[in-house]
Amino acid sequence: MSTEQKYDIIIVGAGAAGLSLATSIAESSELKDKRVLLLDQTKKSGNDRTWCFWEDGTGRYDDILTQSWKNVYFHSNYVSRRLGLSTYSYKMLRSNDFYEYTLGIIDASDNVTFAIDRVIDIDAQQGKVVCKDHTYVSDLVFSSKIPDAIDFSNYLYTDQHFGGWFVEFDNEVFDLEAATFMDFRIDQDNEHRFCYMLPLSARKALVEVAVFSNSHQTKEGYDSILKKYIKDYISTAPYSIEEREYGVIPMTNYPFWNHNNGKLYHIGTAGGAVKPSSGFAFRRIQQHTDEIVKCLISKRSINNSYKIFRGRHLLYDSIMLHVLEEQKIPGDKVFSDLFEKTDVDVILRFLDGDTSWNGDLQIMKAPAKWPFIKGMFKVISPLK
Ligand SMILES: Cc1cc2nc3c(=O)[nH]c(=O)nc-3n(C[C@H](O)[C@H](O)[C@H](O)COP(=O)(O)OP(=O)(O)OC[C@H]3O[C@@H](n4cnc5c(N)ncnc54)[C@H](O)[C@@H]3O)c2cc1C
Repeated sequence: MSTEQKYDIIIVGAGAAGLSLATSIAESSELKDKRVLLLDQTKKSGNDRTWCFWEDGTGRYDDILTQSWKNVYFHSNYVSRRLGLSTYSYKMLRSNDFYEYTLGIIDASDNVTFAIDRVIDIDAQQGKVVCKDHTYVSDLVFSSKIPDAIDFSNYLYTDQHFGGWFVEFDNEVFDLEAATFMDFRIDQDNEHRFCYMLPLSARKALVEVAVFSNSHQTKEGYDSILKKYIKDYISTAPYSIEEREYGVIPMTNYPFWNHNNGKLYHIGTAGGAVKPSSGFAFRRIQQHTDEIVKCLISKRSINNSYKIFRGRHLLYDSIMLHVLEEQKIPGDKVFSDLFEKTDVDVILRFLDGDTSWNGDLQIMKAPAKWPFIKGMFKVISPLK
C-alpha cells in the first residue's frame, strides 16, 4: 500500500506555467523553506512550441532568447507598415531552451523536487493529488491540467490554430532587424487568417500561419498556405524546411478561475492565462507567476493573483472576440485600422491588457466603424 507524501506546495504540470512557478519559488529567498513537488506525466525536452511575446526592457529569460527585434512589420491589403518599437522588444523563445534552463534550476534547487507521475484525480478539499504511482498531499495545489468537462456553451470560444515551418534559403531574403507581426494578405476564406515571420538570420526564419476559427486545417492545409505565402511574399528561390510545428490555442472569455476550489488553484491555460482576443499567454503566465509568488511571500490569498485576468480588459477582449466571431467583421480591416492609426507600443500595451484609459480610448476610436458599443451590449450577459 502506497503512503501519502506531504509537501507544502504541489504543482501539477511542468509546462510553461508549472516550470515558471516552480523556478520562481526555487529562486525566492523568502520561500526557501517551502518543500515543493512539481509533477508531470513526462519530462519535457525538445522544441514542441516557440513562444513570441513582447516585454518592456529586460526580462527573466533574456539570456536564453533565440532572437529579439525592435521593429515589426504589419501587412494587409489596406496598409503595409514597418514600425519601430520604442519601449517594447518583440522576443522569441524556443521551448527546448526554456525547458532545459528551468529544469536545470529545479535540479539544482534544495526545495523543489520534480517527479514523473500521471495525475488521475485531485481532491480540492483535501489537497490530495492521486497519481498513477503515488498519492501526494498539500495545503496548496496549483494545477495546469485543464479541468474535465468544461462547458463553453455560454461563453465566446474560438480556437487559434496554426502551422509553421522553420525554413532556410540559400540566399539572403529576410530582414533580420524586423519580425513580421501580422500579414493578412493571404486568402481569408471567410475566416481570420494571418501569417507571421520570425527571422533568425538573413537566410533562416520561422514562418507561421494562424487562423482564428473552430474548423481546423489538416497539416497539408497549413502547409499549402505556407507554401503559397512564401512564394508570393518572400521569395521564389529554393528553400529547405528544417522543422515544422502545429498547435491549437483556445481563445475564450470562460472564467477558468471559477474551478479554483478549496486548496486547488489553476495556472497557465487552465487558469485563464491565455489572452482571449489574441491567444498570447506566455507573458501573462509570467505576470501571474509573479503575482502568485507575491501572495505566497505576503501570505495573502492566492485568489488575489487572478485580478490581472479580470477587470475591464476582459470586457474588451470579449468585445473583440464578439466583433470578430459573431459580427463577422473582417479581422484584416479591424487590425489595419488599428495599425494605421495607433502607435504600435500602445497596441501592444493594449493586447497585454495594460493600457490606461487614455490608451484604451486611442484603440477604440481607431477602426473606422468600430462596433464596440454593439459588441459591448452583446457580451455583458455571458461575463460572470
Ligand atoms: C504550439 C503552440 C505555440 C504557442 N505559441 C505561443 C506564443 O508564441 N506566444 C504566447 O504567448 N503563447 C503561445 N502559446 C500559448 C501558451 O503560451 C502555451 O500553450 C503554454 O505552453 C501554456 O502553458 P501551460 O503550462 O498552461 O500548458 P503546457 O505548457 O501545455 O503544460 C501543461 C503540462 O501539464 C502536464 N499534464 C497535463 N495533464 C497531466 C496529468 N494528468 N498528469 C500529469 N501532468 C499532466 C502536461 O504534460 C504538460 O507538461 C502557444 C501554444 C502552443 C500549443
